[in-house]
Amino acid sequence: AQGLSTKKLGRTICFYKETTTTNGCLREIALDGGDEGTIAVAERMTAGRGRRGRHWEAPAGSGIWMSILLRPNIFPSEASVLTLLAGLAVCQALEAETGLSPKIKWPNDILLNEKKLVGILTEMDCEMQQTHFVIVGIGINVNTTEFPEGLGDIATSLYLESGRTFSRKNILQRVLVNFESLYEEFIASHSSFAPFLFRYKEKCSTINQEVKVLGKETFFAQAVDITPEGELVVIRKDNGKQEVVFSGEVSIRGG
Ligand code: ATP
Repeated sequence: AQGLSTKKLGRTICFYKETTTTNGCLREIALDGGDEGTIAVAERMTAGRGRRGRHWEAPAGSGIWMSILLRPNIFPSEASVLTLLAGLAVCQALEAETGLSPKIKWPNDILLNEKKLVGILTEMDCEMQQTHFVIVGIGINVNTTEFPEGLGDIATSLYLESGRTFSRKNILQRVLVNFESLYEEFIASHSSFAPFLFRYKEKCSTINQEVKVLGKETFFAQAVDITPEGELVVIRKDNGKQEVVFSGEVSIRGG
């Protein structure tokens, strides 16, 4: 934590040389009463997760594999906005630290040159209308030199796109500083996404793209906007109708 200027985020750091998933480790810590802002960081994850049980490749030493514990007083339905804010924080941090221009693929990925650079996985513990805690998992491919077969076409790293290596510590610190500031603003604005809409849209590549929405139903559409609640507005190709897509429900191909 040396040199870290946050008030809460990263004040307690649980470091693992190797673990299954940092989201899983932090969940145990949260259930044991861990403080808001506690983070879990691993050098390597052996069973990193994506959404819907997908695997997240997290090889040793090459990336930032971390999870952040939050205890916001919000409704469970408002928690998906934290994914969007984490995406914004990471995108701005990467821009500032590298000079590159990554873009957010709504809702939970960051792309560089149309390949996946960052994945964000938000998980929560809640009952009825009460959120006990939220864990925001962030995986950033920093100095990765190669990906296993099958991922090479869709995944990338800062190193692969720029030919340069970067300090993971500097990036991690900047992410925490940015995210803390957005999180404080989110709480102060009574968990509204509206104050962030402009900033988010500026960094989001999904708008105006053709997307394939994979939810309860699968369909092709044109993404046209993001609502003040952080949902994606699309126009369906098959019937020309406008629909609002909720982030919890879908994967987007393209965009
Ligand atoms: P989609 O990209 O379809 O929207 P998703 O956002 O739900 O899916 P995630 O759950 O965030 O995807 O991530 C899991 C997927 O990311 C895996 O199925 C794999 O294709 C890809 N992936 C796994 N490890 C990495 C990595 N280190 N870097 C980039 N992509 C990865």
